[in-house]
Amino acid sequence: MSTRAIIAVEKDGQPWQGVYHHYDGYPSWLGREIYNAIQTDAEMNDISMREATYRFVMKTITAHKGGWAVLHERCFCHDADNTVRHEPDMCLTRATADPLHHEFVYVLDPEKLTMTVLASYYSNSKSEYDYFTGAVIPMKQDENPPWDYIEDNIRREAEQRSEA
Ligand SMILES: [Zn+2]
Repeated sequence: MSTRAIIAVEKDGQPWQGVYHHYDGYPSWLGREIYNAIQTDAEMNDISMREATYRFVMKTITAHKGGWAVLHERCFCHDADNTVRHEPDMCLTRATADPLHHEFVYVLDPEKLTMTVLASYYSNSKSEYDYFTGAVIPMKQDENPPWDYIEDNIRREAEQRSEA
């Protein structure tokens, strides 16, 4: 089943912008995948987490504006042999993202070295879907965030907020 998400970057106090991600967008898969990719790059190439985060943004968001079906496996803008396909860009901002469809947003801040997980919930008072900050995860090389625990907490909070 698809859990649609957005992989985004936020810098210098500017609003986040990112690309679409189609499958398995929940924290225990996509959050972990993003974090591990940055951590592995930092370790393998002996660079800082900051530099690895910038590289991830270049390789994953800037270079694949068509978005991803599955991160690191299949994007919408390139064929398997890496030729460019002429698909429309799927760049998203808070103004164009729809929390009904894009259930999670992973916002990387390479300067603050954080990954903020935004999650959608139904706001009864506004009668529409909105995002709340589900988690702010520090990007540290020697740390493995407890993804299953983080995801449980976010889902619980989304339910509580929807009932409020
Ligand atoms: Zn691509």
